[in-house]
Amino acid sequence: MTERLSGHTLLVSLIATPIRHSLSPKMHNEAYAKLGLDYAYLAFEVGQEELADAVQGIRALGIRGSNVSMPNKQAIIPYLDELSPAAELVGAVNTVVNKDGKGHLVGHVTDGTGAVRALAEEGVDVKDQIITLTGAGGAGTAIAIQLALDGAKEIRIFNRQDDFYANAEKTVEKINTRTDSSATLTDLADQAAFKQSIAESSIYIDATSAGMKPQEDVSLIDDPAMIRPDLVVFDVVYSPLETKLLKFAKENGAKKALNGIGMMLYQGAEAFKLHTGEDMPVEYIRDTFFSDAK
Ligand code: NAD
Repeated sequence: MTERLSGHTLLVSLIATPIRHSLSPKMHNEAYAKLGLDYAYLAFEVGQEELADAVQGIRALGIRGSNVSMPNKQAIIPYLDELSPAAELVGAVNTVVNKDGKGHLVGHVTDGTGAVRALAEEGVDVKDQIITLTGAGGAGTAIAIQLALDGAKEIRIFNRQDDFYANAEKTVEKINTRTDSSATLTDLADQAAFKQSIAESSIYIDATSAGMKPQEDVSLIDDPAMIRPDLVVFDVVYSPLETKLLKFAKENGAKKALNGIGMMLYQGAEAFKLHTGEDMPVEYIRDTFFSDAK
């Protein structure tokens, strides 16, 4: 590392809290080293109180860009100069680019593009498809909007009646009024509608935290009749690698049951491209950090 760093090294930051556990610094620094890029990536513990100063710091220091995670993904928007169309529609930013290092900050969101690319890399095209999606939090919203931008025919969102339901209503309205795709929202408690929707869909995406600790015993699907060999099942959770849903889908014949590692990798790869202009060596990073992930 020290051999790589010089007076010319460009810095990319990650601002969030808590953040010390994040794998992103390792992934990005490993990729810079692999490609011989004169960049360094560092995590900074930044919450909403420090956010305005941190963004000014990015401008003042000519930091090339940043990743942004909780609790700053929405709060950072007023401090930026421009938003990508997807970030504007999602209402959240996970990647900031400091154009030419000159202080003009553009916010992007790569969670949705990361998810769609993870599907594409497995041979799954979302265009013209009917897709059932559970979840309307940060991940669900970014995915729903990107599916719409990438030409999905229908996005049928199901969420339980919790604080996220209103979020889903807004997302559905945005998709229906501002994209060519069409979206609906149904209470997840309406299990007959959920089953009917899955039966008519080619892809089911679970973007809820069901299946992730402490909900590792929860799967939103427990009826084998809902699984078909040709139904693509994609669970955005990556810890554990095989959620209860994925295990159930595989046991009942789903040919494609994908975990959230691909989405995590590709959202990072999209950010890497925005920051450096180069393609992240994705296979190398996958082998280095997630060799047991498939
Ligand atoms: P969030 O808290 O913003 O949203 C949580 C969503 O899950 C809400 O829609 C909520 O209604 C729903 N939910 C939670 N428990 C549920 C249950 N038992 N039954 C039905 N619905 C339930 O969370 P988020 O940031 O959107 O993250 C959601 C999941 O996605 C997490 O497991 C997270 O680890 C994962 N994630 C993965 C990636 C990736 O790159 N693979 C990226 C972001 C998030």
